[in-house]
Amino acid sequence: MKSTFIQNDNTHTAFVQLNASACTACWKCIEICPNEVIDKSFLYVANTVIHEQVLMYDASKCTGCTKCMQACKFDAISIYKQ
Ligand code: SF4
Ligand code: SF4
Repeated sequence: MKSTFIQNDNTHTAFVQLNASACTACWKCIEICPNEVIDKSFLYVANTVIHEQVLMYDASKCTGCTKCMQACKFDAISIYKQ
């Protein structure tokens, strides 16, 4: 079950942004990011995982290489637009 996602500072860097509702938690972007910007995120309810996605945990390390965007087959990562 996909839950409602709460937008926060960890959903984008200065260069790329995450559409969490499109994220299927395949983790490809984590593997390809050279700067360890992205990591797994889990939403629990009563000790049960009800939603998985990624978050930009260390956005300050993002260089804008767009490798994550190219690796995502679900168009969940795009160029950041303020
Ligand atoms: S590659 Fe795309 S679908 Fe896969 S975890 Fe990253 S953002 Fe989510
Ligand atoms: S643009 Fe590059 S450095 Fe930034 S999160 Fe994506 S893969 Fe990592």
